[in-house]
Amino acid sequence: MFCPSCGTQVAEEKKFCTNCGTNLAVVSDALAGRIAPSEPSPLLEAVPQFHRELGKAVAKGVTGAGLLVTAMIVFLASKHPDALIFSVLLSVGGMIFIGKAISTYYEGLAEVRQAELLAAQQKAAQSMPSATPLASLSPPVPTTSNLISPGSVVEHTTKHLEKN
Ligand SMILES: [Zn+2]
Repeated sequence: MFCPSCGTQVAEEKKFCTNCGTNLAVVSDALAGRIAPSEPSPLLEAVPQFHRELGKAVAKGVTGAGLLVTAMIVFLASKHPDALIFSVLLSVGGMIFIGKAISTYYEGLAEVRQAELLAAQQKAAQSMPSATPLASLSPPVPTTSNLISPGSVVEHTTKHLEKN
């Protein structure tokens, strides 16, 4: 095995690098798979996926908007008797594209939300053993006791004076 720190070849059974003293037990544990590699975050997959979906949504939205604009131009500019039908058809097509763009966007967004939720759960599960602070196990410390007992302030002052 090679030392990860200085690159010296070290015998397999050695616990520390003979050259620089790096702890090799960690390295051999990792090589043997004793330390489970942390699971990749679901967001790593979901975010680029969302960006692809977003690209598609934008393309559909632009197509839809283009069709609507064309419909408007045809409706306003053309004197042809079929222009109205043509512009209505273009408008319908435009609406469909915009609708698809919106649904693509929200579907992508929902997937990211899902992945975020999974990632949060994963994180919570990983930090679970150390997440319980000792303070929460001990009974709460009463903080108003000083205010309730009337003699405490005087008592303290008296003790202070007695000492001197
Ligand atoms: Zn070394």
